[in-house]
Amino acid sequence: MYRTHNCGELRTTHIGQEVLLSGWMNKNRDFGGMTFIDLRDRYGITQLVFNMDDDADLCGSARKLGREFVIQIKGTVRERSNKNPNMPTGDIEIEVSELNILNASKTPPFTIEDDTDGGDDLRMTYRYLDLRRKPVQNNIIFRSKLAIETRTYLAGQDFVEVETPVLIKSTPEGARDFVVPSRMNKGLFYALPQSPQTFKQILMVAGFDKYFQIVKCFRDEDLRADRQPEFTQIDCEMSFVTQEDILNTFEGLTKNLFKSMLNLDLPDFPRMTYDEAMERYGSDKPDTRFGMEFVELNEVAKGKDFVVFDSAELVVGINAEGAATYTRKQLDALTNFVKRPQIGAKGLIYVRRNEDGSYKSSVDKFFNQDDLAAWGEKMNAKPGDLLLVMAGETEKVRKQLNELRLHVGDELGLRDRTQFNPLWVVDFPLLEWDEESERFHAMHHPFTSPKKKDMERMMNGDHETMKSLRADAYDLVINGVEIGGGSIRIHDRDLQSRNFDLLGFTKEEAEAQFGFLLGAFEYGAPPHGGIAFGFDRLCSVMNGVDTIRDFIAFPKNNQGRDMMIDAPSPVHQEQLDELGLDLVE
Ligand code: ASP
Repeated sequence: MYRTHNCGELRTTHIGQEVLLSGWMNKNRDFGGMTFIDLRDRYGITQLVFNMDDDADLCGSARKLGREFVIQIKGTVRERSNKNPNMPTGDIEIEVSELNILNASKTPPFTIEDDTDGGDDLRMTYRYLDLRRKPVQNNIIFRSKLAIETRTYLAGQDFVEVETPVLIKSTPEGARDFVVPSRMNKGLFYALPQSPQTFKQILMVAGFDKYFQIVKCFRDEDLRADRQPEFTQIDCEMSFVTQEDILNTFEGLTKNLFKSMLNLDLPDFPRMTYDEAMERYGSDKPDTRFGMEFVELNEVAKGKDFVVFDSAELVVGINAEGAATYTRKQLDALTNFVKRPQIGAKGLIYVRRNEDGSYKSSVDKFFNQDDLAAWGEKMNAKPGDLLLVMAGETEKVRKQLNELRLHVGDELGLRDRTQFNPLWVVDFPLLEWDEESERFHAMHHPFTSPKKKDMERMMNGDHETMKSLRADAYDLVINGVEIGGGSIRIHDRDLQSRNFDLLGFTKEEAEAQFGFLLGAFEYGAPPHGGIAFGFDRLCSVMNGVDTIRDFIAFPKNNQGRDMMIDAPSPVHQEQLDELGLDLVE
């Protein structure tokens, strides 16, 4: 027997008991006559005491234990004279009578503490050591509980968990596929699923009615803090539902998860159309924890001989309340921020409202006090406020001002990580026109249904009409992060064919890629729709953390590499030969 208790459970009620504990040597404190050891396992830390006077040999062995040695001890629980109120086991300690070294350890390359001295690469290479650290372990345990809660809730709503294949044919969700060569079918490839989209729709045709899966998805995209080449979705689909049914079901799931995991009661989720989100925040995933909404200024800003404004499609600003104290240097920094190539604005105009009510702006040459007062009135500027104004092409300038709004929100401390503002964004456009490729792209994916009222226009309308079609597509946004997205699907073969047609598929291409789905639609496909939540993102947002990597046990780095197992890696020539692949150097 290795242990009678774990390292987190002994209390004063156990005083006098003889116990066996096993764990890792976390810390060793030597006071000459006495040696203290912190013994650690997943459940906590328990203090061990070795006394020179009682047993010099035993105490000597304890002193020699290195960090991360795995040991087993036998001892008696006793009350501590020096209690530690910060530790659950801080009222007791173990007077050790036997010590058994189960395994030695090399000195770890970084400290196994909440705040470690290890850099990213080192921690990823020795991920098993990094995973020993409490905060990292807590994240992975949080993830496990969240998955279990999700299953319990959805099972309670009659959802059936179905596994869909990982070796499939490409599903166009807009990203690049990972491909896998087939040995038995030389020259042919599987693709790893970007999502189980077509399979879950097929499950609806098969009559499963409610499906879910906590499932790995793969997208070969450039990586960012909130992206990994493989990530997990809570993937769901339902039959005989409208958008309203789906929003209600998954608002229910989300509220339940926040309650069970964080003991938070979320209020009903507000809804906003895509158009409104773009107008008010310049983003389809607005962070609604703070205001600073866009105010359009064309009416009051144009016609004063300021070319930048006169030539712009849109002049639009935000009111950073109380920020008139920004120094020249801070304002220059904001200007540089929007001029960065990632944002690409030409410049930024500011207007301060002074304490005496007057205005001071960076465009005083063109606008007098009355002009600026008209802006101030539109933007509800109070003395002490700072107005930030940008101009340009509508879509571009909105995107740029969105970045600035989030940045200033950060600077002013308005993005509180303990506050959660969920929002449904609805009524997305069905199609997006891409100037460069001169093609329509599906805004969500090619299976998304237009709104009922737009179906007729979709079947028969002209090119321009297509740009105005709206879809039954929705995103769940929390604190400016897209947590989930889905749509009501097309379940009619003709409508689906028309959509493929608009997306530039020839009949043959559509048939080759999606013949199975089009075929299934001819055998009694029920109306259906669904949603997928980004599971890793949900974990990170619920914990107020930006990077999803912290919630993945074995994540990849920014180059898409697993540093621990050193993947991707070359394969043997024989493997390539078997697959019929030639490597061109
Ligand atoms: N398959 C979609 C996605 O991965 C979600 C959905 O439409 O249900 O975003």
